[in-house]
Amino acid sequence: MSFIVAIDGPAGSGKGTVTKLVAEKLGFITIDTGAMYRCVTVEALNKNIKPTEDEKIEEMMNKISIEMKNQDGNQKVFLNGKDVTKEIRTSNIDKNVSAFSALPIVRNKITPMQREMGQNENVIMEGRDIGTVVFPNANVKIYLDASDEEIAKRRYKQNIERGMKVTYKQVLEDIKRRNEYDLHREIAPLKQAEDAIYIDSTNLTIDEVVEKIIGIIKEKAN
Ligand code: C5P
Repeated sequence: MSFIVAIDGPAGSGKGTVTKLVAEKLGFITIDTGAMYRCVTVEALNKNIKPTEDEKIEEMMNKISIEMKNQDGNQKVFLNGKDVTKEIRTSNIDKNVSAFSALPIVRNKITPMQREMGQNENVIMEGRDIGTVVFPNANVKIYLDASDEEIAKRRYKQNIERGMKVTYKQVLEDIKRRNEYDLHREIAPLKQAEDAIYIDSTNLTIDEVVEKIIGIIKEKAN
């Protein structure tokens, strides 16, 4: 039997960090579904394919291989056998990913892959549509939110630490644009599932969010 925790929310709400910590404490595996859409974007940009080129995208999706492997406690992402863990996090991918993730041809291929990855595992899967589309019967559903300004503040700090040259204003605009796009797309938009528990992380520390989620999971598991 598997126990599935779905964590959805906008870019920068802290899903990635929180998911990793909760999983470590409970011995669950994690699946970062955004990384899969980022792989699709890397492949399309490498092949010079535009989001409007349906046939080329379909052909690309029929051949694509995406794997997540845990190496030395870190999750590595492989696209067609190549380690792209770093490449998928560049600002160019941030800018382009929403246009590709909104395409039905892309989602129709990625969603079944995610369902398969979650089978027979105790898993925390984070993304945008996990509680609504991928695992509507998840044991626990969380919707993690934060204000745009707080999200931009966190992302700006992260980018500076990674040595990227960006301004706070740029980061705020990029985040707002991406979240608007994800919220308003036609297929599988970012949305709180009716039975999801809403957590606003704006004024909470990472540890506070982690404790809250662990409490919710333990309560459900008993
Ligand atoms: O979570 P992350 O910010 O890495 O996700 C990158 C992009 O992938 C999101 O902006 C969204 O367009 C897409 N995504 C999605 N469905 C998911 C996870 C991510 O459409 N379940």
